[in-house]
Amino acid sequence: AATGGAGTEGVATHCPYCALQCAQTLTPNPGLDGDNGVAVEGRAFPTNRGGLCQKGWTSAEVLAAPDRLTTPLVRTADGDLVPVGWDEALDLVAIQLRRIRDEDGADAVAVFGGGGLTNEKAYQLGKFARIALGTANIDYNGRFCMSSAAAAANQTLGIDRGLPFPLTDLSGADAVLLLGSNLAETMPPSVAHLADVRGRGGLVVVDPRRSATADLAADGQGLHLQPVPGTDLVVLMALQHILLTEGLADLDYLEARTTGLEEIRRRSALWWPERAEQVCGVPAGVLRDAARLLAAASPARGGRGAFVLTGRGVEQSRQGTATVSAAINLALLLGLPGRVGSGYGAVTGQGNGQGGREHGQKCDQLPGYRMINDPDARAHVAAVWGVPESSLPGKGQPAVELLASLGTPGGPRALLVHGSNLLVSAPNAQQVAERLAALDLLVVCDFVPSETAMLADVILPVTQWAEEEGTMTSLEGRVIRRRKAIDPPSGVRSELWVWSQLAARLGSKGTWDTEPTLVFDELARASRGGRADYSGLSHARLDTEEALYWPCPATGAGGGVAPHPGTPRLFADSFPTHDGCAHMVAVDHVGPADDLRPDAPLYLVTGRVLQHYQSGAQTRRVATLATAVPGPTAEVHPLLAARLGVVDGERVRLTTSRGSVAVPARITYSIRPDTIFMPFHWSGAASVNRLTTDATDPVSGMPEFKVCAVDITPARRH
Ligand code: SF4
Repeated sequence: AATGGAGTEGVATHCPYCALQCAQTLTPNPGLDGDNGVAVEGRAFPTNRGGLCQKGWTSAEVLAAPDRLTTPLVRTADGDLVPVGWDEALDLVAIQLRRIRDEDGADAVAVFGGGGLTNEKAYQLGKFARIALGTANIDYNGRFCMSSAAAAANQTLGIDRGLPFPLTDLSGADAVLLLGSNLAETMPPSVAHLADVRGRGGLVVVDPRRSATADLAADGQGLHLQPVPGTDLVVLMALQHILLTEGLADLDYLEARTTGLEEIRRRSALWWPERAEQVCGVPAGVLRDAARLLAAASPARGGRGAFVLTGRGVEQSRQGTATVSAAINLALLLGLPGRVGSGYGAVTGQGNGQGGREHGQKCDQLPGYRMINDPDARAHVAAVWGVPESSLPGKGQPAVELLASLGTPGGPRALLVHGSNLLVSAPNAQQVAERLAALDLLVVCDFVPSETAMLADVILPVTQWAEEEGTMTSLEGRVIRRRKAIDPPSGVRSELWVWSQLAARLGSKGTWDTEPTLVFDELARASRGGRADYSGLSHARLDTEEALYWPCPATGAGGGVAPHPGTPRLFADSFPTHDGCAHMVAVDHVGPADDLRPDAPLYLVTGRVLQHYQSGAQTRRVATLATAVPGPTAEVHPLLAARLGVVDGERVRLTTSRGSVAVPARITYSIRPDTIFMPFHWSGAASVNRLTTDATDPVSGMPEFKVCAVDITPARRH
């Protein structure tokens, strides 16, 4: 039986990959063939119901990757990476950081974090940047995946918790509108929660591809809307228009719980279905069917309930925040948020995409999901950290701006990278490589030699997943325990230890605990009273009550002494805004930054495949996954393929104004004839992010990964 601790027969923990955080049992077994000494089993948990996807089943292989980093490496004057002891590596890093800081100030050192770091590491990294380094320049790769949804939810609903309801609530609804999310490939066990909705014909998928998830809406199980890339906002405006003109909006709810209706009515009036069809390509009749289906499912019209969910497909856009705002507005018009069995949510991607954005690795935030320019927030966090409020830096640069400024005059000269493989995951990857090469000092903490690590001046080998204790926060806002199942290889250290060592060498004041449980206790104190309040949580409590939802304040429910039970559902009575209402933000469609033109006449969209996770640094090292999908293909519609004279498997060259890659074509009817799809898990000549634009959303700073203009030619012509 699984138990809660290390050193026992089975260790109850969660998958190292995505935000579904499927429950696993890990059983150390050194004699086991093929699993590198750790057996993985699915474990019963509400989100995965005992199931795992291929990535989860094979996750233990990365623990014993043949190229696992086990000693610090330092680059010599000849450009070679040579092994050194920890003291030598840390001394070298600290000396260089001091020199750069003395010469050009604290902001000349930058930090880049990751949405896969545990809550404890995300918290400690933000603290390390701001008080040990004193830099404002810290941001993280969550900027690439969650920032637009977070910005829109904060603006309208007053708080951003990916799903403000348990995932299991989906089963009871009559309809789910899924915008830009391919759950069937990115988090397959979650699809079980859509089975009942599909049975009622209520799954509505909006995606330019007929993805595996869009397929779930076939055969009377729902609708697939296949818009022109970059026009999801038009689809949403048309749905709003139909609800308002056909008398399907929940006016009582809107009157009681929202503001801004008249401006929403005015803007959506411009998007009657036939006009929307001209822009988004979705037939007006299908738009009407979708709006009526959602309305019929809403509680106001006697339905069981409905959900509106967004994913990266609509968020990774220069109008990502506006698009999510429109999705929330749609949910509000239907009267969904705050009603049990209904709501709006964003399907978080990275394993700790939720917790990673709550504890201070964002350039504009402090722990507890507090804004860094809020005087009260600064005073509270400074007191927890034992430093003067005036010593805390202000807002730094968001990720894309930060990366573009590296090594430029006045920009950061040193970068510390934790939990991120920028060379693969950042947009306009060739430019990112040039900026990293222009640094005086690049330090990367990782457990495998990722593409970014291999550019570093110093690589520090750190623990991973099953080798450490900690907590993660799932896409539902559940705080869960990640537990240690095996010891790390000799020579490997925790990042908490690395930061404590560097802080000491930099002469930093303050406490730098290396025990995750102590760091969590400090995190909980720092979060107290913030939007993401963890102050009623501890490792000990999470060990006995597996998984509690934030907010979970230290005071008992109703101010009593009983421990707060956590908050599975938000917004039941009011929204956490100054007046308790949701504030609808009126938006307009502006279209992609990089639109079609004669030399780039097609849309390029990017995404994931079932077998690989994010930059692929982990899953490309798992034999069965790498064998199943060894590299990227470009999905091309048969009509386009015929026009090009290209056959299935033939190499095609994709070219944008930023770069060019050649990959095999995969000819499929699932893509629009004006669109090419390519997954992003690979590097170098196979990296689609050599092509993507670094245009960003003006509110969230999120890059427009999901659409750019591209040309395609048979590679044989080159
Ligand atoms: Fe892991 Fe996500 Fe797969 Fe679950 S769905 S096993 S959390 S990768």
